[in-house]
Amino acid sequence: DNLTVLSENFVPPTPQKLLELHYNENAIGMSPKAKSAAIEALNTGNRYRFTEAEPLRALIAQSHNVKEENILFSAGSSDAIRIAIAAHATPGTQFVVPELTYGDGEDFAKAYNLKIAKIKSNPQDWSIDLKGMQEAVAKYQGPSIVYLVNPNNPTSTIIKSNEIETWINSKPKDTLFILDEAYAEYVNSPDYRSVDYLIAQGADNVVLLKTFSKIHAMAGMRVGYTVAVADKIKQLQDHVELDSLTLSNPSIQAATASIQDKDFLAYSKKSNDSAREIYLNTLQELNIEYLPSETNFVFHKIKGDIEAFRQRMLEENIKVGRPFPPANDWCRVSVGTTDEMIYVSNKLREFRQKGWL
Ligand code: PLP
Repeated sequence: DNLTVLSENFVPPTPQKLLELHYNENAIGMSPKAKSAAIEALNTGNRYRFTEAEPLRALIAQSHNVKEENILFSAGSSDAIRIAIAAHATPGTQFVVPELTYGDGEDFAKAYNLKIAKIKSNPQDWSIDLKGMQEAVAKYQGPSIVYLVNPNNPTSTIIKSNEIETWINSKPKDTLFILDEAYAEYVNSPDYRSVDYLIAQGADNVVLLKTFSKIHAMAGMRVGYTVAVADKIKQLQDHVELDSLTLSNPSIQAATASIQDKDFLAYSKKSNDSAREIYLNTLQELNIEYLPSETNFVFHKIKGDIEAFRQRMLEENIKVGRPFPPANDWCRVSVGTTDEMIYVSNKLREFRQKGWL
């Protein structure tokens, strides 16, 4: 069974070179074309490059069926979260966020003194209580910012797009939707689509956040962007430096090459599908509960507390996800290469033998 046999050239992790399955990065590395483009750009590293990002802006706009005026660059999408919150933070604004989701939204909302309305997730399957979020918005007197990560992190699951679209289209009063679609390219479910088409149709109550950190394998290059109607982009611009200068030119050139490298993007998706399947098969074999993953990470049950499991994995030179309370007996494991997932699968089997899992 070749799904359990490591390649001959696989090098097991060591304390000096850990197997990193803890940050939802993309283990396959950047597109070779992106790498060459970044290296080439070092030749003009001494120059300000005010306009070098414009071809990238055009390609990104095209990919979402919008215009260049609908795109704002940022150093990663985490800064895009900050920008969206900064541009809408007023003293009476509440930030409506699911209990179990990516933390940057809440962190920035606190930094900008927003009131936090955290809506409990369903502990059965950690699904987001969209109805609870809607009620929190409806009963609040002042403005609301709703932060939705779809597919969600750390749960790896999607909210069906029609449920989100219905809410956005109902135009709740004084409400801005921040839709974080960092992992959208990994989704296989037919119930999912990007909200980008709503913005193309003129929806002014939603900003879409995107990143090159995941499917493009460029987390260290820091390229992210916001898609929104032109007036909204203008409003966001007041909270950043000239957006084309927030990206380094090597990053711009790498992203420009990567977005055009369709073969690489297809390979990136396929590699994730195969490597994830290896891990999910192991979880099934060991009868371990997991959530249906639409991303480059898996969220599964463990025996006992995540801290102990994490420590045991670290002793095997493997880094897995941090605790995500209140899901303290669940672990988030990022999808690595197929070899890496075979390796970590074997560790799960060993842990089971030892009674740890
Ligand atoms: N949004 C989500 C949901 C994430 O999981 C991450 C990173 O893991 C980010 C945003 C930030 O990514 P970056 O700043 O690298 O674009």
